[in-house]
Amino acid sequence: MTTHAPHAPHATHATHATHEHRLAAILSIGDELTLGQKLDTNSRWLSQQLVDLGISIVEHVTVPDDLEAHVAVLARLAARCDLIVSSGGLGPTADDLTRRALAVASHDSLVHDAAGEAQVRAWFAARGRSPASINMVQAQRPSRGLLLENRHGTAPGLFASIDSSARQCDVYCLPGPPREMMPMFDASVRPSLRPPAGKVIETRVLHSVGIGESDLAQRLGSLMDRECVPLVGTTASGGVVSIRIRYEGEAPRVQAKAAVNDAADKALSLVGEFVFGEGGESLASVVLNMLKQTGQTIAVVESCTGGMLGEELTAIPGSSACVLGGWITYSNEMKQALVGVPSELFASGGPGAVSCEVALAMARGGRERSGASIAIAITGVAGPDGGTPAKPVGTVWVSLAHARGSDTRRFSMGGDRASVRSWSCTAALAMAWQHLSGRSHALLRQVEAYVE
Ligand code: AMP
Ligand code: MG
Repeated sequence: MTTHAPHAPHATHATHATHEHRLAAILSIGDELTLGQKLDTNSRWLSQQLVDLGISIVEHVTVPDDLEAHVAVLARLAARCDLIVSSGGLGPTADDLTRRALAVASHDSLVHDAAGEAQVRAWFAARGRSPASINMVQAQRPSRGLLLENRHGTAPGLFASIDSSARQCDVYCLPGPPREMMPMFDASVRPSLRPPAGKVIETRVLHSVGIGESDLAQRLGSLMDRECVPLVGTTASGGVVSIRIRYEGEAPRVQAKAAVNDAADKALSLVGEFVFGEGGESLASVVLNMLKQTGQTIAVVESCTGGMLGEELTAIPGSSACVLGGWITYSNEMKQALVGVPSELFASGGPGAVSCEVALAMARGGRERSGASIAIAITGVAGPDGGTPAKPVGTVWVSLAHARGSDTRRFSMGGDRASVRSWSCTAALAMAWQHLSGRSHALLRQVEAYVE
C-alpha cells in the first residue's frame, strides 16, 4: 500500500516520506558507467549528503541501461532499505529506462503528467526552442508517483514508493548529469528526508603534511582504537594526511560537539606540529590566508610543474590580494632570460637545470623581479624520460626565497609524471606553510635541505 496521492510536480515535498530513512542505497544507472567510460561521481556525492544527515548507506549499486537488471535491483534494494536514491536513465531516448523500471518495480503504470509536460515545454520555451516529441516521455510518471522539478535540464526527477512484504521504501530518481542531480537533490529530496530521530553526527577533519599515515597513526596511538567514541581515522591523499574525527550516536548535540572537540585537542597535542588546517581548508588556502594576514605577497617560478602551482594558488577566490604572478621557465634559456639564472649553471660540468643552485637562482630571481615577499621555484625531472643515474625521474628541487634568506630542498618523488608534478606543488606549498608558520620539519620524500 502506498500513501502517496498524485501531486502536481511542484507540490511541496515535505510530505513525501512515509517513514524514517534509516538505511539507504545509492543506485547509478548507465552503460557509460558499467563500460568504464565514465566515472560514477554521483554516488560519492549522494553518499556524503545522506551520511551527513545520519542515514546509513548499505550499498552502492551500478547497473547498465537494462530494464530487467534495473527492476531486479530496485526490488532487491527495496526489501532491504528505507530509501533508494538513483541517478541516470531519465533522458528521452530509448536507453533511458528509469521511468519504466520504477513503474514496474512499484507495481504501477506510467501516466502522462500535464504539469510535467508544461514544465518540459517551459524549459525549451525559455531557450527559444520547442521540445521534440520524444521529450514528452519525460512528462510520464508512475500513477502513484510524483515528478520532481528540474531547474537545470529537461528531465524531471521521479519519486515513488515500493512496497515489499518486508518494508516500504521511498525511491528518488534523479538525472545523471551532476549539475542537474545536485540541485534537484537539494531542492526536492533533502527537505523531505526523515533521518533517524535522535541521531546526532558531529565531525571534524584536521589536515596534516610532512608525516606519513602510519607514522601519524602511531603517534595518535589509542586515540584511533576502533571502539573509541568519537571514532578517529586517517586518510592519505597526495601528501596530505587527514585526521577524521566522527561522533555518531544519541547524545545531546552540545555533548557530541564537546566530545569531538576534546578528541581534536588530544590529536593536536600529539601531532599538532604537522597540522596545517581543518575542514575545507587546503595548503594553498592556508598559505594565502597567512600571507594576507601578514600583508605579504608571493610569486612562483615553475619548470617541471608548468604553471600548476600558480593554478593551485589562483584557483582560490581572493588570491589576487597576495599572488603577484609568476613564470613558466621550462627551457634553460627561459630560466636565464626571465629570472636571470646564470648561464654557467647550465654549462657542462655545472650543476645543471635540476639542481639546488638553479632552484635557488630561480627563486631569488623571481623574488627580485616580482618584488614579492616570497618566491617559490620548482625544477625537477617529471619523467617518464629524462632521468639519469645521478638525477632519476622524480628528482625535484624546490626553493623558497624570502627577505631573510632561503630554504631549498631536494625531493625524491615516486609515481608517474602526474604524481611527480602534483607532489611537487604540495611540497612547495608545504614549504611556504612551514616558512610562514615557523616550522621546519622534513617533508615526505625530502632527501636533502639547504637553509640559509
Ligand atoms: P542520463 O541521461 O540521466 O542517464 O545521464 C546522462 C549523463 O549524466 C551521462 O552521460 C553522464 O555524463 C552523467 N552521469 C550519469 N550518471 C552519472 C554518475 N553516476 N556520475 C557522474 N555522472 C553521471
Ligand atoms: Mg543514461
